[in-house]
Amino acid sequence: MRTQVGIIGSGPAGLLLARLLHHQGIDTVILESRSREYVAGRIRAGVIEQGMADLLREAGAGERMDREGLIHAGINIAFDERLERIDFPRHTNGKVVMIYGQTEITHDLMKAHIDEAACIVHYESPAMRVEGFDTETPRIVYEQHGEQKELVCDFVAGCDGFHGIARKSIPADKIKTFQRTYPFGWLGILSDVPPVREELIYANHERGFALCSMRSHTRSRYYIQCEIDDKVENWSDDAFWDELRRRLPPEAAENVTPGPRLEMGITPLHSFVAEPLRFGRLFLAGDAGHIVPPTGAKGLNLAASDIYYLSRALIAFYKEHRTDLLDRYSDAALRRVWKAVRFSWWYTSLLHRLDGDPLSRRLQISEMDYLTGSEAGRTVLAENYVGLPYEKFE
Ligand SMILES: Cc1cc2nc3c(=O)[nH]c(=O)nc-3n(C[C@H](O)[C@H](O)[C@H](O)COP(=O)(O)OP(=O)(O)OC[C@H]3O[C@@H](n4cnc5c(N)ncnc54)[C@H](O)[C@@H]3O)c2cc1C
Repeated sequence: MRTQVGIIGSGPAGLLLARLLHHQGIDTVILESRSREYVAGRIRAGVIEQGMADLLREAGAGERMDREGLIHAGINIAFDERLERIDFPRHTNGKVVMIYGQTEITHDLMKAHIDEAACIVHYESPAMRVEGFDTETPRIVYEQHGEQKELVCDFVAGCDGFHGIARKSIPADKIKTFQRTYPFGWLGILSDVPPVREELIYANHERGFALCSMRSHTRSRYYIQCEIDDKVENWSDDAFWDELRRRLPPEAAENVTPGPRLEMGITPLHSFVAEPLRFGRLFLAGDAGHIVPPTGAKGLNLAASDIYYLSRALIAFYKEHRTDLLDRYSDAALRRVWKAVRFSWWYTSLLHRLDGDPLSRRLQISEMDYLTGSEAGRTVLAENYVGLPYEKFE
C-alpha cells in the first residue's frame, strides 16, 4: 500500500492532520491500533483554546462545537477560603476558551473524515515500527488481521500518543528526552449533574488540589488530588463527593450536586518532552512528542498547535515544492511546547499539596494572593491559560 502521508494514530492529532491535508488534496492513510468504538469512547480533555477551535473549523469539524460548546470568559481560583475570578477578555484583548469534550471532537472529526469524506482509517491495525525515515520512501510496518503489512509513504506523521511506536523507532543517540513524574495523581469523576459554577474552579486546599470542571450544563467533571498509588476501588461515589466538598470554599461546596459516576479514573501527572520532533521524513506530533500534567489544560491544545505547524509545512511541500517549513517544524512547535510545559509545571506547583511543609503552603498562598491582586499577575495567568499565539508560519 502507498500514500503521500502515512499517519500513525487516530487521536485528535492524527485525525486533525488528515482532515487539514485532505482539504488540500493530499492523500493520507491512518493506522490505528484500537477499534473505532474504543477511540470514540475515550474520555479525556475538555478545554479548547481559540487556536484549536479555529483549526477544527478549518478542518470542517467545528459546526457542532460552535453550536454546543460553552464559551468561558474566566476561571475561578480558590485558596485560603477565598474565591477569586480571573477575567480572560480583560487581560488578553478579548480572548476566551471553549468547553467542548475531546470525546465530542473525536466524534466530529471521525464523522467528517470517515463517514462523509470516505477517507481511509485502518482500525485494529497497530504500527510495529517505522523504517527508512532517512530515505525518500519511509515505510510503516503494521499488523492487520494477524498479517504483517507495509505502508510506503512520502512522509510519516507519528501521532500515536505517549506509548506509541513512532518515537521508539528512533535510535537512542538521535533523540533527547526530558521528563518528570509528579508525586501525586488525580482522581476524576464524570457525572450527569449540573456543574457547581458556570466557570471552572481550581482549588488549593491543605487536604490537596481540587478542580471543578464540566462538559456541558448537565455533565460535570471533577478531580481531586490523590496519592500516586491510590486505587479507584478505594473510593465510593459518596466518599468522592464528601472529599470534594471539603476542599472547596463554602459558597462553592454548598452548590455541589452529587450523582452516580459515569466514569471514575486515576490520572498520573507527568511532564515529558522529546527533542527534536523531526527525524528525516518522520515527524512526531502531540503526545507522541510531549506530555504535560492536565492542570493547565494544555495537552490537547499542544497536539493541535503541532498539527497547525506540521500541516502548513506539508501543504507548502506539496503545493509549492518548498522544504523550508518542514525544516522549521521542530523548532517552531517546540518553542510553544516548552512554554506550555513551563506553565503546566508552574500551575501544578502552585495548586497542589506538595510536601506537607507549612512553609511551602504559606508561599503558595502568598503567591496566589499576589497573582490575583495584581494586574500583571492576572495577565500572566490569563494569557497562558487562553493559549499563547501560534507563530506566523508561512
Ligand atoms: C486520562 C487523561 C486525561 C486527560 N485530561 C486532559 C485535560 O483535562 N486537558 C488536556 O488538555 N489534556 C488532557 N489529557 C491529554 C490529552 O487527552 C492528550 O494530550 C491528547 O489526547 C493528545 O492527542 P494525540 O492525538 O496526540 O494522542 P492520543 O489521543 O493519545 O492518540 C494517539 C492514538 O494513537 C493510537 N496508537 C498508539 N500506538 C499505536 C500504534 N502502535 N499503532 C497505531 N496506533 C497507535 C492510540 O490508540 C490513540 O488512538 C488527558 C489525557 C489522559 C490520558
